Amino acid sequence: MKENSHTVSFKKGDQIFKVGDKANCAYIVESGTLGVYPLNMDDDSIATLGKGELLGEMGILDQSSRSVSAFAESDLKLMIIDREQISNRLKNSDPIIRGVMEVMLRRIRNLLGDSSDASSVSKHHDTIVSEGLHKIRFEKELFQALDNDEIINVYQPMVELKNGFVAGFEALSRWKHPEKGMISPFEFITLAEESDLIISMGIKIFENACEQLAIFQKIRDESGSKLPPLFMSINVSANQLTAKNFLKNIRDITLKYNINPENIKIEITESLVVDYEKVKTWIDECHKMGFKLSLDDFGTGYSGFQHLLELDFHTIKIDQAFTMSIESNPKSMIMLEVIVELARRMKMSIVAEGIEDLDGANKLAAIGVNYGQGYYFFKPMLPPEILPILS
Ligand code: C2E
Ligand code: CA
Ligand code: CA
Repeated sequence: MKENSHTVSFKKGDQIFKVGDKANCAYIVESGTLGVYPLNMDDDSIATLGKGELLGEMGILDQSSRSVSAFAESDLKLMIIDREQISNRLKNSDPIIRGVMEVMLRRIRNLLGDSSDASSVSKHHDTIVSEGLHKIRFEKELFQALDNDEIINVYQPMVELKNGFVAGFEALSRWKHPEKGMISPFEFITLAEESDLIISMGIKIFENACEQLAIFQKIRDESGSKLPPLFMSINVSANQLTAKNFLKNIRDITLKYNINPENIKIEITESLVVDYEKVKTWIDECHKMGFKLSLDDFGTGYSGFQHLLELDFHTIKIDQAFTMSIESNPKSMIMLEVIVELARRMKMSIVAEGIEDLDGANKLAAIGVNYGQGYYFFKPMLPPEILPILS
């Protein structure tokens, strides 16, 4: 048996686990086949599992010991699914689903004990396989990707609209997959948010962004620029905010790279704020440490104005759909003018994102929007592509 923290290999005939073993993980077959037996290999096998199939999930669902034994039928590679990946989901699931699951497990265990009913075991497998397996597997790959430094940042410049210089950046994460190429955050951030993975991932994204900001600033300084310091906007998810030590961790990172927290803008999306009391405490802490806060995706929900009433932000970030609608809907322009006035009087700055043409950029500059971000100026880019536009 050969092991790292994500996969484990067996030779033909090896025992993977036996009846009564403590169940501390499940497996997905990566390659090869294995047999499931009531007790040992002399018995008739209950099921044979091949590539993509799930093994050993029952034990980790109800924390009991293994009720079957499993042996490699060929050279075998298994992906390890940690108990937390499944148990966290079960803990957070609807109590009804949880109840049904427990009943199901009990029935299956009884069946196994009484008659080792093969077809019911494989049916149970089929259901889980079709529903959650793809996701669990993808999640495990994502854990691996983080360890392998495949989660990287690209940076999209924000332009000061009055004078046209690059004022700062938004860090946007990408999964640089060895086979699939660059994977969009839309495909993995939500998944990372479902487990605690977003917390370690978020810290890494934050650290990379700070390290990069220090490099960008150094290059700009060396060019003899008199422009204000560059800032870096970093997206943060709800479960990061409430995670223990998150603020301390990001404070330590800014110290490590000698970054003034004032040049970091934490982007919180409008839809994220559900628990005002909690978020308010957190935002106050952020302010105390000197970080700036930006209300992302403004104009997409119903609650944006409520957020502005209850919470203190430095920046409002107009959602791209809103920005784009100024071309087609005159009312959007009027609303935007009012929001600009509101921001001015509340001493906040405004960023418009999703600017795709010159006409839009000019209109937004004319009504006093401070910063613009969008394909008209720059797409999100890797650091080497950014160096030439700094000086
Ligand atoms: P977002 O924060 O609203 O980021 C803006 C998205 O709009 C980015 O997509 C950006 O590439 C895209 N964009 C920029 N300019 C234009 C434009 O002119 N036209 C159009 N059509 N699109 C434009 P991206 O990079 O795919 O990110 C998608 C979302 O994923 C982000 O939306 C953000 O919610 C989330 N995300 C990205 N990186 C992170 C991260 O590090 N942490 C967290 N928690 N979320 C992230
Ligand atoms: Ca954002
Ligand atoms: Ca946005």
